[in-house]
Amino acid sequence: DSAAVHPAAWPAARSPEALTDPSTEARIADIMARMTLEQKVGQMIQADISTITPADLAQFPLGSILAGGNSGPYGDERADGATWARLVAEFRAASRQSGQGIPILFGVDAVHGHSNLPGATIFPHNIGLGAANDPDLIERIGAATADEVAASGIEWTFAPTLAVPQDLRWGRSYEGYAADPALVARYARAMTLGLQGHLTPGQPIPANRVAATAKHWLADGGTAGGVDQGNAAMPERRLIAIHAQGYPPAIEAGTLTVMASFSSWQGVKNHGNRALLTDVLKGRTGFAGLVVGDWNGHGQLPGCTITDCPATFNAGLDLAMAPDSWKGLFASTLSAARNGTIPQARIDDAVRRILRVKAKLGLLGPDPVERGNPQRIGTPEHLALAREAVAKSLVLLKNEGGVLPLRPGARVLVAGPAADNMAMQAGGWTITWQGTDTTAADFPQGQTIGRAIAEAVRQSGGEAVIARDGAWTQRPDVAVVVYGEHPYAEFQGDVADLAFRDLDGTQALLARLKAQSIKVVSVFLSGRPLFTGPQMNASDAFVAAWLPGSQGAGVADLLVAGKDGRPRADFNGRLPFPWPRDARSPVARPLFPAGYGLTYARSAKVGPVNEDPGIDLVAAANADTYLVRGAVPSPWRLNAEATVATRTVDLTAQEDARQFIWSGTGTVAIDGPAVNLTRELDEGFVLRLRWKIDAAPSGAFNVGLGGGRIDIGPQLRSAPGDKVIDTLIPLYCFKQAGADLTAVSNPLRM
Ligand code: BGC
Repeated sequence: DSAAVHPAAWPAARSPEALTDPSTEARIADIMARMTLEQKVGQMIQADISTITPADLAQFPLGSILAGGNSGPYGDERADGATWARLVAEFRAASRQSGQGIPILFGVDAVHGHSNLPGATIFPHNIGLGAANDPDLIERIGAATADEVAASGIEWTFAPTLAVPQDLRWGRSYEGYAADPALVARYARAMTLGLQGHLTPGQPIPANRVAATAKHWLADGGTAGGVDQGNAAMPERRLIAIHAQGYPPAIEAGTLTVMASFSSWQGVKNHGNRALLTDVLKGRTGFAGLVVGDWNGHGQLPGCTITDCPATFNAGLDLAMAPDSWKGLFASTLSAARNGTIPQARIDDAVRRILRVKAKLGLLGPDPVERGNPQRIGTPEHLALAREAVAKSLVLLKNEGGVLPLRPGARVLVAGPAADNMAMQAGGWTITWQGTDTTAADFPQGQTIGRAIAEAVRQSGGEAVIARDGAWTQRPDVAVVVYGEHPYAEFQGDVADLAFRDLDGTQALLARLKAQSIKVVSVFLSGRPLFTGPQMNASDAFVAAWLPGSQGAGVADLLVAGKDGRPRADFNGRLPFPWPRDARSPVARPLFPAGYGLTYARSAKVGPVNEDPGIDLVAAANADTYLVRGAVPSPWRLNAEATVATRTVDLTAQEDARQFIWSGTGTVAIDGPAVNLTRELDEGFVLRLRWKIDAAPSGAFNVGLGGGRIDIGPQLRSAPGDKVIDTLIPLYCFKQAGADLTAVSNPLRM
């Protein structure tokens, strides 16, 4: 059975004991003893704000309400924080009377800041945060987001997304942090702690923190062809090694909720997968909080409709997201509970978990935690943090002739469709679900990228105009052209290939500028790396800016030099996904591997990506991982370059050791026998280079596979005496259809 699950093969984890402390459990048992079956079932159903009024709660004692992407309160998608807080309070008051005194739990998609709320601080989408590779930054963003969500009276956000996107055609790629499961795992912990803080036994989380949601369980980023809500067809071990990696750290950090994925694994919908929801998630990985469904996701199970689906609860879902279907689902679930289709024990388990979360949020008991202090929305500290995050997220892919940073006194034309366009820089999940209607007026304390650059240029004594179509009578020294993808969310962003769709005709503008010999800087906004060959060729500099959000000043901070002509800050971002060389997906042979990014300090490729097939090690500062795709050469070649006399080199790939001995100075190339990597390709392996050192190299000692090079001279010099030094290079290789391979390695951990 290809969908068989072996819980013991999964990493073991546990929610913190603070989530299940005995005094709270006793209180919950006491509440439950007094609840009717109707009240219990009500706890398990969540309605959308656009379909329910406080008065409805008298008849339907529901447990939760959400404000989905497109639904503002009272039909107003631009309601302010005070309005939200008032609305939540009204529902809260109504629910206290109807649900055995149990207040509703209110959830919202605050996925890059409190992103539905005008005036909120909008952080870069997760892909940009992945480029920043900075868990401390993520934790601070989590705390700031929680502060703003709580400020509007809300106690729960459906974030973070822990997808590990494998195919960038997926419209939700930008909601994922990176292709590297290890980075996703570090961020899972950081964001959960940022949003919720550390859980304390017997204490609710503070009023300025909110519940997190680890989503979407499981392998939302692993569907065939990158099709949203599609099927992840892969063996269990790959499910564990790639897609599950974020969950144990989120659970151990105390995530109060997990959301089931619309997608399937081996043809089985996650909303109905008892083995994954119950045996693995709640069993092996010890999750003690609540599992929420996705938007009518239960309705996609075989034999279910959106208004009738006992199977999802029996599989382990605790709270069904039934935005418009809650009335019918409540009635059918109640009768399934009455006639035993859903066992009583299952109902009680679900309700206990829901009440645990409510207890931790301070919703139970006589003195509930009060949230709702709109002054905390868009504070100067939060805005400064977003600006910092933007600057840290930018990846410099090209900077020929040192066109960047823009020099003091320069005459700068800021052009392109996104030069002054808040919707394009904020992307989907901003104000509305698709994010297409967002305007600069929604974020009065924000800046568009073009305005921020023009302002910074003027401050440095230069001249700048913003002209979308590039028309200026004067001749500029440099043109900064801002363009990219138009906003989208979820399946609406799925694409057939990775070609950049130039809907605005920007290529013609770039070509025109180039024809006039004007230096061109491209600032490219996108939810994913795309094939941009023509755009890159027409640009002197190219910056991948992702979807940076409301604080465009973070872009200007890196692009515009200070008055002294020196950069005010350097680039730090590294590609979280490989950048494609052509429109094919998955990216087979990247133009730039994951981990790549230039800096002002070193505006050259640190380690070239070999044009030849091969696993390349590419050295670059700060990269945790590289993603290089290509065929493993057979036979392969190890290149070593040194100024010392004798070396013994062992190459160990798992248990297969191969030895090569060479003597001499200068560059030596060693051809090895073909390495049969077939077994390892599914799992990843560690490549061990063993160096027996007779004399420490005086200078650089460069080593690489294929065209890449790194200098391990300093490492060799730091080890005393006659020594054997192991250099460990983790390589995670995955066989793709068509025999393409992926190798992820981290030379810097050597
Ligand atoms: C998305 C979730 C989101 C939910 C509520 C769904 O369509 O898949 O990520 O949290 O809507 O808006």
